[in-house]
Amino acid sequence: MNIVRVALDIPLATLFDYTVAEGIDVGVGQRVIVPFGRRQMVGVVMGRVAATELSPERIKQVLQVLHGSMPLSASLLDLLRFCSDYYRYPIGPTVLSALPARLRSDKPITSKPGLGYRLSASGAALDLASFPKRRVVQRRILAKLAEQPCNLAQLKALSATAGAQLRALMAEGWVESIALVSPLSHGPSPASGEEEQKHTFENAHTLTGEQQSAVNAITQAQGYACFLLHGITGSGKTEVYVHLMHHVLQRGGQVLLLVPEINLTPQLENYFRSRFPDVALCSLHSGLSEGERLHNWQQAQAGAAQIVLGTRLSVFAELPRLALIIADEEHDSSFKQQDGLRYSARDVAIFRASQCGIPIVLGSATPSLESYHNAQSGRYRMLRLTGRALAEARLPAVRCININQTVMHHGISENLLREIGQRIARKEQSLLFINRRGYAPVLMCGGCGWLSGCKHCAGKMVLHLSDKRLRCHHCGYQLHVPYACPSCGSADLHPVGSGTQRVESVLQERFPDARILRVDRDSTRNKHVWQTMRAQIHANEVDILVGTQMLAKGHDFPALTLVGVLNPDSALYSSDFRAPEKLFAQLVQVAGRAGRADKPGEVIIQTAFPDHPLFRALQTHDFESWAASQLAERKMAGFPPFMYQAMLRAEGKQEAEVYTFLEHARAAAVELRHAVEILGVVPAALPRRANHLRAQLLIQSTKRKELQQFLHNWQSLLDALPAQKLRWSLDVDPLEF
Ligand code: ADP
Ligand code: ZN
Ligand code: ZN
Repeated sequence: MNIVRVALDIPLATLFDYTVAEGIDVGVGQRVIVPFGRRQMVGVVMGRVAATELSPERIKQVLQVLHGSMPLSASLLDLLRFCSDYYRYPIGPTVLSALPARLRSDKPITSKPGLGYRLSASGAALDLASFPKRRVVQRRILAKLAEQPCNLAQLKALSATAGAQLRALMAEGWVESIALVSPLSHGPSPASGEEEQKHTFENAHTLTGEQQSAVNAITQAQGYACFLLHGITGSGKTEVYVHLMHHVLQRGGQVLLLVPEINLTPQLENYFRSRFPDVALCSLHSGLSEGERLHNWQQAQAGAAQIVLGTRLSVFAELPRLALIIADEEHDSSFKQQDGLRYSARDVAIFRASQCGIPIVLGSATPSLESYHNAQSGRYRMLRLTGRALAEARLPAVRCININQTVMHHGISENLLREIGQRIARKEQSLLFINRRGYAPVLMCGGCGWLSGCKHCAGKMVLHLSDKRLRCHHCGYQLHVPYACPSCGSADLHPVGSGTQRVESVLQERFPDARILRVDRDSTRNKHVWQTMRAQIHANEVDILVGTQMLAKGHDFPALTLVGVLNPDSALYSSDFRAPEKLFAQLVQVAGRAGRADKPGEVIIQTAFPDHPLFRALQTHDFESWAASQLAERKMAGFPPFMYQAMLRAEGKQEAEVYTFLEHARAAAVELRHAVEILGVVPAALPRRANHLRAQLLIQSTKRKELQQFLHNWQSLLDALPAQKLRWSLDVDPLEF
């Protein structure tokens, strides 16, 4: 019997066996339609087997092979198998979630400009002489495609009915679609690996000594090697990437550049296009339409896209000639997916590089302590850029203002307001960085002390004055601002603390003529709005920027000379052991926005703890000693990177069910008697969200392998626990606590 094992989007840790009818050709990596229960589903063939445990009367037949797209490569399937296993997530959903939505559907893939056609493997093996003589147009198409891949227009030149005949050929599996770069002559020359590929390269700068040695080290690497490019902001990491790309492109390879923030991709795309004007570059991120996403994925798969720039999901792009991976801002937590397959794109990228035997570069001004530790211990190679690339661009001066010893105006100190005033007078820009959207974090009653809590969550509702609402940032629940206290009826309701909107209004009052721009998720819901805002900032049509962390990342605003940090203190004493690490990275990044051009920058931090070591390290620009002290603390406390962790989370409407499930899971874990540490069941950081009670159980081990073995055995016990009314998940290497 001819049996295939198929991955389906079904939350079971198994593949599904189907028979294939006589004479139908189906290969590993191909998409198929199969019956499942009463439904039909699209799946991916993961392998063939000679025998199945299913009884002959239960096994069903593959209904259709979806030709018309290239099969997934064995190496991508291997990568997905690894992810499914490592992150303890079922194989079917892992494989299907890596595909663009269009490839998960059974709809035929329609042609788009830039899409081309070529013979499939069976089409290429076909002897045209034996092909039915009556099918004249089909024969002509096959003959033409045997010469070279073509687009639809070229095929239509053969016959007016070429479109319909092409679809017939694709349905029979003779022809498949591929992405072509336009113009057609720019297509990849197949397997001409040796020959040097010419492209225009805008070599803007002579590299500094440090940049050059980084480029040399990476280009000389043989096979897999992981480099940590630790370069201060403005040290020219991007320039290093450009030179590395140039090197790879010359040799006909593909480059994958992973970036954390979807907002940054259009800007980076333009930048790299300007440096490589005739190189095919495409992006992959969740902001693309389904059609664009499919198109770009196929460009990458066909080898036509030479540079692929994308957010975390692009780590699963098909890249047949992948020769280099770069993960920029490798410390950024957005590389970690927080639901479904809870993968870290950075870590998957490292695995992928080792699988492909190619170098990977992790770039950051503030590396994650995990990567930094690995670089120090020699598992990665450390490359340092210690100076700013432009000689005249100095690092900003960092100063703390003690909020307990100065006059404050609704969260902004008098000193900071004065500094802003001076910048306005000099026609320079200021940026106020605050970690809270809305007007104020909470509304409070002066009569009875009532606070605006969310009735569905354990959190507080945030006051949004622009539309006079209280809004929960956890579950989205919203209410009109009450006129009187719901608890005691007093009208003495007032906002406590500040968010971006309140800061904006304080500034408006103080500087009535200033042009103030608020940049946060509320003001940039529309994706084009942010592009417009950026243009305004660049044209110096803005005096003061008020923003959340959205503004901290990667943007280059030449007129910006002052950065004010309003309320960083809560991260200093957070229950999340990574909070100080994140704050440090954020502040370095936001400080890096100041004084990038010829004007020196200044950073003012408002804090109640001006002597805290974190601020000291910022002032001296001393990542090394800061990281050393953090690592020493982590080692003492037994935290990552000295410990490997997995978190079991559960949530449900009934508190008792949540805790019973986790206690049973814990008992099962203890029974397994592995050398892992099993902590107690505790409430989640936000113990109630959208009316669901949330709790968690942490497992850890000093050895990754030990933890993996434990998880492997534990998973089947977890699957067997009763949990009808619960949602639970395992998070391997969790970032959120
Ligand atoms: P990073 O990514 O490390 O923050 P960038 O790559 O953005 O730094 O570089 C900062 C600035 O320095 C940019 O304006 C860039 O054009 C410039 N630059 C980079 N390398 C050089 C060099 N070798 N010579 C002169 N200028 C450079
Ligand atoms: Zn009250
Ligand atoms: Zn809520």
